[in-house]
Amino acid sequence: MELIAALDRQLRALDEHSLTRQRRVVETPCAPRMVVNGRPLLGFCSNDYLGLASHPQLAAALAEGAQRYGVGSGASHLISGHSRAHEQLEERFAAFMADYVAQARALYFCTGYMANLAVLTALGADGEAEIFSEELNHASLIDGARLARARVQVYPHADVATLRRQLAASTAATKLVVTDSVFSMDGDLAPLAALLAACEEYGAWLVVDDAHGFGVLGAGGRGVLEALGLRSPHIVYIGTLGKAAGVGGAFVAAHGTMIEFLIQRARPYIYTTAPAPALAHALQASLDIIGGPEGQARRAHLHALIAQLDEQLRLRSWRRPPSATAIQPIIIGSNEDALQAAAGLYGLGLWVPAIRPPTVPPGTARLRATLTAAHTHGDVAQLVAALHELEGA
Ligand SMILES: *Cc1c(COP(=O)(O)O)cnc(C)c1O
Repeated sequence: MELIAALDRQLRALDEHSLTRQRRVVETPCAPRMVVNGRPLLGFCSNDYLGLASHPQLAAALAEGAQRYGVGSGASHLISGHSRAHEQLEERFAAFMADYVAQARALYFCTGYMANLAVLTALGADGEAEIFSEELNHASLIDGARLARARVQVYPHADVATLRRQLAASTAATKLVVTDSVFSMDGDLAPLAALLAACEEYGAWLVVDDAHGFGVLGAGGRGVLEALGLRSPHIVYIGTLGKAAGVGGAFVAAHGTMIEFLIQRARPYIYTTAPAPALAHALQASLDIIGGPEGQARRAHLHALIAQLDEQLRLRSWRRPPSATAIQPIIIGSNEDALQAAAGLYGLGLWVPAIRPPTVPPGTARLRATLTAAHTHGDVAQLVAALHELEGA
């Protein structure tokens, strides 16, 4: 029982540093108005940026997919689990992204975490590769870089000059520059145009994780590449589907040869059961909405809510770094103060998560409010009033 005692000591140490996390039990579908542990709350905590997670058309498509394809896929993609629904979805993603990733094919994964592990471990496997990783990258990219048998260099946040020096000094045959598009704890954008220019100059590939951009950014919802007007055959694009798309999974869009290589070599793709085909069927309904007039209207509403927060929120000691995305951090400082603010909001009927180290740097514990197209202007006004009340208290 020595292990149990050691684990217990570590858990107590977390608690002493206010780092213990609690899971709350949600009784209702993902939406701003929710019931949590039996209590009604207004949530600013999901990544359901377009409000599609409980959309009736998606629920109907999921049910239809289950009727048509059954529930489980029964095997991995390379054995017998690759269904017509998966194949159609991949063709649709390739077409959807064709203006931004040249000669693209697309590959559908169980989760974004697995897609990131797959891309980095497969492309970084040959011992001749070097990975250049942005300092604030998501944990799944960090883990992918660690698992890959490649040399890894971290470049400071948004620091293209340092990256350029690293690229210039590298003799690696394969160079992968890896970055989040929208940083998940700050909501700011990576300098992708400058990163892409550096990649093209030094013969590197740009791996872009657009988890918070796909569906949300760009007039047509095609994500950060559309928003910034970037197009290149040097891009490996990862869009995750559990956030704005409202379902789950992820896709990689890249040069066809690269996709074929992932199918043949990427272990997180090969050694896992294919996702339920009904999910792929529901995702086609999601893509219909994202790319159509309803998606456009939802994006416009989301951006109006962000503008409202800009206009109405006036902070004194807390700090809200500028963010034009759905991710709206309010930096408080100490872990205890951030927890206390989150608890205060909870007391007022609002759920805004506190984010603490190691997810963010020490001393920058924060509230992380996420806005979605399912929120109303009244909801945002309620958030603003609660924050003003707590900061004044
Ligand atoms: C959420 C997220 C992921 C993981 O995607 P899942 O589909 O939830 O596994 C990867 N990268 C970033 C930047 C994310 O925010």
